[in-house]
Amino acid sequence: ARQFFVGGNFKMNGTIKSITDIVHNLNNAPLDPKTEVVLSPPALFLLLVREHLKPEIEVCSQNVFDKPNGAFTGEISAEQLADSKITWAMCGHSERRVILKEDDQFIASKTKAALDGGLGVILCCGETLEQREANQTIDVVTRQLSAIASKTKDWSKIVIAYEPVWAIGTGKVATTDQAQEVHAAIRKWLGDTISKEAADKTRIIYGGSVSDKNCKELAKQSDIDGFLVGGASLKPAFVDIINARQ
Ligand code: 13P
Repeated sequence: ARQFFVGGNFKMNGTIKSITDIVHNLNNAPLDPKTEVVLSPPALFLLLVREHLKPEIEVCSQNVFDKPNGAFTGEISAEQLADSKITWAMCGHSERRVILKEDDQFIASKTKAALDGGLGVILCCGETLEQREANQTIDVVTRQLSAIASKTKDWSKIVIAYEPVWAIGTGKVATTDQAQEVHAAIRKWLGDTISKEAADKTRIIYGGSVSDKNCKELAKQSDIDGFLVGGASLKPAFVDIINARQ
């Protein structure tokens, strides 16, 4: 069975005080030991979180560059993250695709660099409302993932996060059927494109308005292996989401 995986994406939120409080709450909360938990604070706070968070919880950068070092103002490399015990990087989040204009090729290049640097990757994909209404959901998601498949066939350190853009920060969560349908299609794509082993073993997590209210139903779906949580990861309810399978 695939280990349940829950990521907390703080996005550009938090202060030294509020993030330290979250870390202390998680350190003392009764977390399901079967869930793999990964926290992703803003870059500025990665080291603070790594220093204070209990070692069972891993830390993830919200971004990574595709070169190991050099004259790239404002960027952080996989090598620097690994050196700082930050063991995961997020690639392909829709906010970076849309607002920062990152395209499939750049995201694939960053994913490859993160894997080569020894990091795990939370690889995000998902369609806009317009694309869903035009019945393009599976095409869009598999196109986004195909860019990565052309760079690496080793998916053992990739967790795929399906995040429909229309569900992010909107309070409009995908229904369990909508999410399960896309997750199953992604798993089929993994089997057809990468390997049967990748299809069996790769965690496919759901993101987009996940809350303590809707997480239990979603977590029952056979192809939903966890969550990538935005807003609710900043709140005490994050513990209930981590424990959704209990
Ligand atoms: P929300 O949980 O705030 O909708 O954000 C989802 C997300 O984008 C996680 O990466």
